[in-house]
Amino acid sequence: MALIVQKFGGTSVADIERIKRVATIVKRDRDAGHQVIVVVSAMAGVTNQLVDYCSQVSSLMENDQRANADHVVAAGEQITSGLLALELQSLGQPARAWAGWQIPLHSDDMYSKARIDEIGTEAINASLAKGEVAVIAGFQGISPEGRITTLGRGGSDTSAVAIAAAFKAERCDIYTDVDGVYTSDPRIIKKARKLKQVGYEEMLEMASLGSKVLQTRSVELAMNYRVKVQVLSTFDDTPADQIPGTLLVDEEDLVEKQRVTGLAYSRDEARITLTNVENKPGVSAGIFGPLADRGINVDMIVQNVTEDGKQTDLTFTVTKGDLPRALELVKNDPAMPKCEKVHTDGGVAKISVIGVGMRSHAGVAAEMFRTLAEKNINIIVISTSEIKISVLIDESYIELALRALHTAYGLDAVEEKN
Ligand code: ASP
Ligand code: MG
Repeated sequence: MALIVQKFGGTSVADIERIKRVATIVKRDRDAGHQVIVVVSAMAGVTNQLVDYCSQVSSLMENDQRANADHVVAAGEQITSGLLALELQSLGQPARAWAGWQIPLHSDDMYSKARIDEIGTEAINASLAKGEVAVIAGFQGISPEGRITTLGRGGSDTSAVAIAAAFKAERCDIYTDVDGVYTSDPRIIKKARKLKQVGYEEMLEMASLGSKVLQTRSVELAMNYRVKVQVLSTFDDTPADQIPGTLLVDEEDLVEKQRVTGLAYSRDEARITLTNVENKPGVSAGIFGPLADRGINVDMIVQNVTEDGKQTDLTFTVTKGDLPRALELVKNDPAMPKCEKVHTDGGVAKISVIGVGMRSHAGVAAEMFRTLAEKNINIIVISTSEIKISVLIDESYIELALRALHTAYGLDAVEEKN
């Protein structure tokens, strides 16, 4: 008998019919002899609605206001956990609903984006020992001062992985509306292929680059605690034990190490260029220090020094949402080094190729640049890590670039021959 954690996202529990379907999946694994802990999201759209109510009465700027907002926003998950437990009971399966504070799932007090500190296992273990299924409200915890916290949007993935780690579960099955992780966004790339396995680190890059299948933090946790995570569809009838979805695994356990595993993209990019900044020590610190102090995340950076070495152009990217604040700082903060002009462009996108195979295969970057050149796509900024190459391009070329790269790296699905 194994202990399985199952997590169901918002679309999987969007209405009563779907909650009933979820209950049959829970019962199926229970009947197969497993102990089951379920973690649920709010019904699709509910969290947005609750966040919207809060913002109609408050700007939610201070931590103390966010604490009261979390009290509201966490309610969505409480409803689903109760409904699913009720439905399981109707099917004759003993079940109990749990709120975060009852477990307890202890977090810090950064309301609306709290981090998990510790998870109690005693109460739920006692419930499991009685043969009950534990149905936990995801996304919520309790702060040191005893108030309800939430773990950031998409946070029930993180609840599920953390709970799987705390209870040493055999596997954490993340049920969603797609049947796994794909080589690229299947809405854009018709030939995208479902991956059987993906390395934790690769998944981390994909998640942080905008593949919205999993919350980034949940992938970090899975990697740190070596939690075996499967992403699979709620709407497919294959038993989860047969691993119909995509499994997140250690790099050593990857069966195939392709040069490139997947392509990710993000439209949420904006470029800022400062021209003719004086080229002397401290200039970068002078620009990026104040941005960091205001919590503005800078992603890609490139610097072009003039031939005489006296001046430099500096280009960097921030999220579209941070662009107005970043611009305001760059133009008006007295600590900023002087420059001739400030250019901005909100119409850019980042495309990344990801794969642990890059560590051992040369030429992946060159192939990317050649492929984009053949399509006449200009590269504005390049950045690399050990397993990722990212380029900034004009937003209107995203689809063309993704398709060309998907083919160039041999990722296209092969048509099945009859
Ligand atoms: N309900 C929360 C959200 O919409 C948490 C989650 O679904 O993971 O962000
Ligand atoms: Mg989600």
